[in-house]
Amino acid sequence: MTAPGDDSAVANSEGGISGTWDLAIVGGGAAGLTCAIYAGRGRLRTLLLEKMLPGGQVALSHLIENYPGFPEGISGLDLAQQMHRHAARFGARIETATVTGIEADERPFRVRLEGEGPAGGTRSRCVLMATGSSPSRIRVPGEKDLSVRGVSYCASCDGPLYSDKPVLVVGGGNTAIDDALFLANMASTVTVVHRRDQLRADPILQERALANPKIEFVWSHVVTEIVGEASVEAARTRHVTTGEETAVPVAGVFIAIGETPQTGFLPEAVTRDEGGYVVTDFDLETSVPGIFAAGDVRAGAYRQIAAAVGEGVVAYRSIRHYLEEQQ
Ligand code: NAP
Repeated sequence: MTAPGDDSAVANSEGGISGTWDLAIVGGGAAGLTCAIYAGRGRLRTLLLEKMLPGGQVALSHLIENYPGFPEGISGLDLAQQMHRHAARFGARIETATVTGIEADERPFRVRLEGEGPAGGTRSRCVLMATGSSPSRIRVPGEKDLSVRGVSYCASCDGPLYSDKPVLVVGGGNTAIDDALFLANMASTVTVVHRRDQLRADPILQERALANPKIEFVWSHVVTEIVGEASVEAARTRHVTTGEETAVPVAGVFIAIGETPQTGFLPEAVTRDEGGYVVTDFDLETSVPGIFAAGDVRAGAYRQIAAAVGEGVVAYRSIRHYLEEQQ
C-alpha cells in the first residue's frame, strides 16, 4: 500500500527497519512466510521478524511427505529455504530479530525488539502473529542438565551424532514416530517410550515404525529421570499403572511430546485459550483489531504445513481488508 512520496516506504527500502510498516509479521515459519509472499506481491510494506533461521518447525523436519507437489517428499530445510527465497523475491523485508513486546494501545502498533531502548523498535499498522510453537519439556531430573549432552528436541539436527548408538524417543505422536524412523537409519536401536498403549501418530507412520526391526516400544511408561555424568547414559522409566521402574541404557534421549505456543511477548489484551494458544475469529483476527494470528500459534489450528500455508493466505486477505478500511 505504498503511496507516492511516502517517507516511511523510502526509509524502509534504504535499509532501516525503524519506519512505519503496513504489516509486521512475527515468526518466519510456513504461515508467516506465506503471508509475506502474498503481502509482498500485494505491495504492502512488509517486515518479517524471525529470531532464528526462517522456516520454524518446518526446517527441523527431516522429510516432509504430505506437502502437495512433492510426491517423493522434500527435506524440511529445503522447503523452508525455498519459502524464504520466495518471500524475499516479492519484496518482504526479512530480518533476524527477537520481538519482546507489542504495544496494543498505540496506533500504528509499536513492535518492541530485543536490545532496543524504550523508544526503540519499529511501527506497523497491522501485526501478524505467526510464531508457532516450541517443543514441550518432560520436566524430569536430568533433562535440563543433560541438554545438548544427549537430550535433544530435534532428531533431524542431532540424530547423526548417534550413529551406531542406542537412543530413546519419548512420545507417541507424528513427531515422535517420524523421529524414531529417522533415527533408526543411524542409531543401533531406537526405544520409543509412550505413556499409553496406542499411538497417536498417523496410521502410515505407525505401520512403518511397528515393522522396523530397529524400533522397539515400551508401552504405558513415562520417563522419570535422565541419568548421566558427562553425557546421557540411561533413562529411567515407570509403568503408569503398576509403578514398576526400569532403566534403559541409551546415549541419546529425543523428546517429542508436543508443542507449547510462543506467545510470551503478546499484550494481555490478546485473548488466549487455556493452553495459551491465540484465539481468533473466522478472519484470523485476534481480540485486538489489527493483530492477526495464523499457523500453529492459533487456537484450533490443524498443525500441518499445508494448513499453516492456507492460514497465511487467509490472514493476508483479512489484513488487506483491515488496511483498506483504515484508509
Ligand atoms: P502431538 O500430536 O500433540 O503428540 C504428542 C505426543 O506426546 C502424544 O502421543 C502424547 O501422548 C505425548 N505426550 C504429551 N505430553 C506428554 C508427557 N508429559 N509425557 C509423556 N508423553 C506426553 O504432538 P506432535 O507429535 O509434536 O505433533 C504436533 C502436530 O504436528 C500434530 O498436529 C502433528 O500431526 C503435526 N506433525 C505432523 C507430521 C507429519 O504429518 N508427518 C510430523 C510431525 C508433526 P498421548 O497420545 O497420550 O496424548
